[in-house]
Amino acid sequence: MTWLKWVLTVCSVVIAIVAVVSLRFQVLVYPGNNIFVVGNGSVRCAYGGHVDWDKAEWYFENAPWRGRIRSVLGVPEIGATFGFWFVTVPLWLPFLVCSIPALILWRRRPKRPGRCKCGYDLTGNTSGRCPECGAAVGPASQGAR
Ligand SMILES: [Zn+2]
Repeated sequence: MTWLKWVLTVCSVVIAIVAVVSLRFQVLVYPGNNIFVVGNGSVRCAYGGHVDWDKAEWYFENAPWRGRIRSVLGVPEIGATFGFWFVTVPLWLPFLVCSIPALILWRRRPKRPGRCKCGYDLTGNTSGRCPECGAAVGPASQGAR
């Protein structure tokens, strides 16, 4: 589970950075007839409509879904406009999804009686030394802590 808390932590940091940067800079990509916008602390995906390349900037500037969410405290939204279906996901949502489990995992102290700090099972160990990592293990770490 060690990798999980690192993955969640890295995700939280990346999402937080993207959220902060997106308050200042917006990124618009429109592969095919889909539109992805990262801006104002949200990610917006629009699909199902027709993207006129000459009007793409116009969509970006004028589409209602652009300015609707002004802050990182925006709400998730599903709707339709300009013939597009769109989904808006404020970045605080994935941030919380990643950071809350990460915090819990970081705060949770491993309680594994009878095990070395490396995770090796020390049941029946008499040498006082972990055969896996070589760490000195006292009687205290062999029983319940
Ligand atoms: Zn060990």
